[in-house]
Amino acid sequence: MRANQTRKKMGKRPVCPQVSTVGHEGDHIVQANAWLDGGEGSVGDISHSLREEGAWTTGAYIAQALGMKTYQPYGSESDQQVWNKGWAAADIATKMAAGIKNILNYMTNRYGSAMEKTFSEEHHHQD
Ligand SMILES: [Zn+2]
Repeated sequence: MRANQTRKKMGKRPVCPQVSTVGHEGDHIVQANAWLDGGEGSVGDISHSLREEGAWTTGAYIAQALGMKTYQPYGSESDQQVWNKGWAAADIATKMAAGIKNILNYMTNRYGSAMEKTFSEEHHHQD
């Protein structure tokens, strides 16, 4: 899923929000490598849903670290925000989790049981 592309400045230094997207996709690469190393039935052979949860969590922490204003899937409703600079510190974990849950619900509504498919079910593993 593509992340939003709003631009945000940190002081005078322009920050490219694409970095969060790179984190999201980078997490998928780490997940794919775990699957390639472990193969079918291994701990790396996780569902698409779990992979998205991991990737959006990574992206949210990167967005926070970069001081981005908000972070959510491109074109999504605000209930899918996984990061908002305006959130109170005590609410961050809860709101981040709620945003990720709403993304997964949205994707499950849209893609159905495909979200529960593991790497091995989506791709034939090459030894
Ligand atoms: Zn993704």
